[in-house]
Amino acid sequence: MQYQNSLTFAKQQDKEDKLSYLRNRFHIPKDKNGHEWLYFTGNSLGLQPKSTKEYINQELEDWANLGVEGHFEAKNPWLNYHEYLTDKMAKIVGAKPIETVIMNTLTTNLHLLMVSFYRPTKTKYKIVIESDAFPSDRYAVQSQLEFHGFSKDDVIEWKPRKNEELLRIEDLEEIIATQGNEIALLLIGGVNYYTGQFLDLKKIAEIGHSKDCVVGIDLAHGAGNVDPNLHDSGVDFAAWCTYKYLNSGPGSLAGLFVHEKHAKNKELPRFAGWWNHNKATRFNMRQPFDVLEGAEGWQLSNPPILSMAAIKASLDLFDEVGMDSLREKSEKLTGYFEFLINEMGSNDIKIITPKNPKERGCQLSIQVKNADKSLHQKLTKKNIITDWREPDVIRCAPVPMYTSFEDVYHMVSILNKLLK
Ligand SMILES: *Cc1c(COP(=O)(O)O)cnc(C)c1O
Repeated sequence: MQYQNSLTFAKQQDKEDKLSYLRNRFHIPKDKNGHEWLYFTGNSLGLQPKSTKEYINQELEDWANLGVEGHFEAKNPWLNYHEYLTDKMAKIVGAKPIETVIMNTLTTNLHLLMVSFYRPTKTKYKIVIESDAFPSDRYAVQSQLEFHGFSKDDVIEWKPRKNEELLRIEDLEEIIATQGNEIALLLIGGVNYYTGQFLDLKKIAEIGHSKDCVVGIDLAHGAGNVDPNLHDSGVDFAAWCTYKYLNSGPGSLAGLFVHEKHAKNKELPRFAGWWNHNKATRFNMRQPFDVLEGAEGWQLSNPPILSMAAIKASLDLFDEVGMDSLREKSEKLTGYFEFLINEMGSNDIKIITPKNPKERGCQLSIQVKNADKSLHQKLTKKNIITDWREPDVIRCAPVPMYTSFEDVYHMVSILNKLLK
């Protein structure tokens, strides 16, 4: 135990880590004196791959040299650009290509999906979310309820039990068993942003479908972090942003998943634009709307190429490494982080994230008794970038792409000193 809790051990782990070379493929932010930050907020905004600039520059050059002809003549013709992303994105979330598309931003995608999949009736209209849902998701479902003439109080919360932090699947079962006849939709965060809990999506889909409720998943904290196996889970739809674990840059485009079982259902109500119209006749311009099959059938506009170039840079990197090796390292790295925190032996500290590596991604949410935001500020002063959530939780994500065991070691030893 003594040895594992040492800088020598952390350095040895980095030496043995087959993925340690990846860190050098990213820009690691530095302080004014040139010291690298210990960056634990890849769950908020992933770091920039060094290759991103080249990918974007390629499109800037093609635009400069080709103007509108770039749609066909660019090195990566813009007309089909989103298609270059589909297979790689689908692989990361365990989906089929027909189920996946990159478009818009996350909350926009949730709304577009609810246009199709939240179809309330007079008696079956309520929406289930987790009590600690991300605010944007809560506002989105409340506004959907109101848009359809219901009240924002028609949200049903799946809550942790008293004195617990994590959600229990049997409590969702209970909600659906007792109120399922009134529930139209479940919109659940696949990995909870606050606790880091990775829920059993397949089980959630089964529970929801048992009472004919549609099941949608927000994967913002799951994509590129865990293996959600979207297709096999059987959930109806999902959406996620790409600027967190997928390192595609601030506000970059989002992902959308619609299960294959809905791919050919052209009767699903949806909003339309020229980009979800049949590609073969799109530019004839005078055709009646003919919707595309699969996830592409939810697009509206021709998408921003510069943002997609950044996504391409990142997805190429994920494709090179593969989720399997990333998950393997992630379990080790977060396990080490957890071990070191437990070694602190502090009664003031509690990790609220599940202990089982299968029920979490890389993030640990650390609750610090009687702490306030000044602890977070002290960490920042020491070059440790973490995320503070009121009232007393520090969220830390050691990201397997670029966080080292040494980073984790230093982070915990500084936290330990600050708490003493
Ligand atoms: C990050 C995040 C969002 C942010 O939504 P945007 O539309 O990208 O601004 C929404 N929901 C969840 C669960 C998130 O983690």
